[in-house]
Amino acid sequence: MAYYDKKPEKKFFEKELADYRDSVWGCARCNWCQNHWGWNVKSAEYSEVCPAFHEYRIFPYSGMGKMHIARALLEGDFDYDDAPELKKFIYTCTTCGACEMNCQRLQDKEPLQVNETLRAQLVKDGIGPMSEHKNLIKSVKNYDNPWMQPRTQRDRWAKKIAIKDINKEKAQTLFFVGCTSAFDNTQWHVAQNTARILIHAGVDLGILGKSEICCGSPVARIGDRETFVSLAKRNVEQLNNTGVKEIVTFCPGCYRAINHDYTEIPGLESLNPKVYHTAEYLYKLVKGKKLSFNKEIKMRVTWHDPCHLGRHCGIYEEPRAILKAIPGVELVEMERIMDQSWCCGGGGGARTAFMDFAQKTAAKRIEEAKKTGADAIVTACPFCEQNIGDALSNMDDGMQLYDLTDMLMRALEM
Ligand code: SF4
Ligand code: SF4
Repeated sequence: MAYYDKKPEKKFFEKELADYRDSVWGCARCNWCQNHWGWNVKSAEYSEVCPAFHEYRIFPYSGMGKMHIARALLEGDFDYDDAPELKKFIYTCTTCGACEMNCQRLQDKEPLQVNETLRAQLVKDGIGPMSEHKNLIKSVKNYDNPWMQPRTQRDRWAKKIAIKDINKEKAQTLFFVGCTSAFDNTQWHVAQNTARILIHAGVDLGILGKSEICCGSPVARIGDRETFVSLAKRNVEQLNNTGVKEIVTFCPGCYRAINHDYTEIPGLESLNPKVYHTAEYLYKLVKGKKLSFNKEIKMRVTWHDPCHLGRHCGIYEEPRAILKAIPGVELVEMERIMDQSWCCGGGGGARTAFMDFAQKTAAKRIEEAKKTGADAIVTACPFCEQNIGDALSNMDDGMQLYDLTDMLMRALEM
């Protein structure tokens, strides 16, 4: 190697805090990580993007705060014992990525990556995660899902659906269901809708049934890298062995983990099938006239961008295009949309450890949706649906909540 050969950039899951030393020292304290991007702001009320800073109003909760916590820990300016609330600062974050989006735009720094690396450091040092997260990790290790559910229950949602079990029959496309929709019976409708719609469109579809395992996203986001890497290895091996050409998932957490995070693990075998989120895949089917709507739905709806689908993976247009293609549906937009969207509050372990904060964040989103005059919020994420759904049930004001596939089922008269 010549002396000028650039050392290859490390992958995310091998980076340590010291790898961000230049970045954290370079934080300009400009506060763009808390604010809605300048030219798009329409009102003071919706001028912020960081739910944690919005709720607690002190800087350690913001993206900038995390950069300075990391700098101080790195340089020995303070230790864990000096700040009893340190763990709370680091874990009261939905990993929505709004800070990262705006900082990268202007300052080219990575406040969310720094916070996730802080979490990994806390786990390594035996301080993190929050006690509420420990059961989740235990469950993933013991049952391959974060919800303490036996493996035998994983395919209960599919009881009445004629769908191939990929362990017994070959198929071209695998539906990766994800733990939340497989085990939470309030979410079964999305798994069932997805399977029914794809089969209706002629997709040669199969599932892993009881042998599907957690993608690892929940443990990755709370900083347990060891458990995440072990799940990623098992998943890549199992998914490659299926021989499928493509994988469809409707959980943005699974989508980001399988499609992006796995490529950030050093030495991990590559995944052979192409991975799609349902919104992308259904858009392909609508555009290719494999799905045509025959029922008008007279409804005004607003689209809530799930953070792990929009900001993290860049899927903004496809779900909007599907909604616009449904006869009778009028799509109206909230003030904070696409890469400036306001998080539902449910991600990054926030709902597990800080329910009150998660619910207040969801309530804020519902108020914003109501201002559009919409009858319903439509989204495509089990965590958004759980968190916004719970906040809505406490409001009792008539706003409805649908998954994207609910809208399709109605328009297809299925
Ligand atoms: S936007 Fe980036 S550089 Fe500016 S304060 Fe936030 S973390 Fe620091
Ligand atoms: S990821 Fe979201 S909640 Fe966390 S610090 Fe950044 S903007 Fe705030």
